[in-house]
Amino acid sequence: MNIRSSIGTNVLANQSFQRAASTWGAEFHDNITVFLDFGFVTLDQRTVSSASYVRDSFTYSEFRNAIGNDVTTADDTKMFNGLSEGPSFSIYTNQTSEAPGTNFELGYLDNNAGLNNTTVTLTTANAKALGLRDSHSSTVDGVINFNSLYDWDFDPSDGIEANHLDFFGTALHEIGHTLGFSSGVDELDNNGGGQFSDDELNFVNSLDFLRFSTESEAAGADLDWTADERDKYFSIDGGLTNAAGVASAWSKGVNYGDGEQASHWALEGGLGIMDPTTDFGVGNELSNIDLTAMDVIGYDRIFSAVPEPGSMLGWLALAFCFRRHRRLTV
Ligand SMILES: [Zn+2]
Repeated sequence: MNIRSSIGTNVLANQSFQRAASTWGAEFHDNITVFLDFGFVTLDQRTVSSASYVRDSFTYSEFRNAIGNDVTTADDTKMFNGLSEGPSFSIYTNQTSEAPGTNFELGYLDNNAGLNNTTVTLTTANAKALGLRDSHSSTVDGVINFNSLYDWDFDPSDGIEANHLDFFGTALHEIGHTLGFSSGVDELDNNGGGQFSDDELNFVNSLDFLRFSTESEAAGADLDWTADERDKYFSIDGGLTNAAGVASAWSKGVNYGDGEQASHWALEGGLGIMDPTTDFGVGNELSNIDLTAMDVIGYDRIFSAVPEPGSMLGWLALAFCFRRHRRLTV
């Protein structure tokens, strides 16, 4: 996988971003090119960086067939076998106008084959990896911004300087979102309180098929798609097995959950690069579970990787995920 990015005026930032792009690229052998733009802008003080990414919708049948055609690892097989057959999937959800007794916090099973039960949202990069989009389309796939309020350390090889933020690790994190580490629960969390019907909230992402709870399993749902404070676990076999070994693997939502965007691992859970926060003087690295998640949503994993050189290009898009500080800034 090749990730191309824009070039800014900061040579060290360019080199570090390219290293981060090559680090992801070297883990997967998909014959695709992902186009990203990056730069420095002033963000609010609690935000370290942000990623925006273009997304596209597909039918569940298209998604499931693509996952089936993309099986290259044992984990991929588990994922495919965990996806229910037929043109629709069921979700355990809440915060919609159909919530029981208009108590919007209460979860319920939505299995009425509506628009949200037949639609899957993918980042354009994820769609490329699944063969659902032109593999080398040069339309921008994502834009990443780093907060110019902070001092950045561009070379993690000698540790991260005190009072500096890890540029390389932050680039890895934000690139991860553009590749598809994104939950539609953030859309629910932003539009909850019964404002919309479940069919109007048709933003189940590929990553959401790895999201489960005790309640979603008891209800017989294909995934958990709630915005609340209950624990959500990580599974790559349709909820049968907890693959992270922790009860709470996912962040739960800014407004109705634990205060963190659902498009992340659990806060300070130590699971991987997609932790929602970072801090000064701290390095951030890819983990095996980060790679497992990417593998099963459509990327073709390489288990002994040789980094490929990146090349350069530029573009732009919309806003979505914000990575935060563990504490208020100085
Ligand atoms: Zn993030």
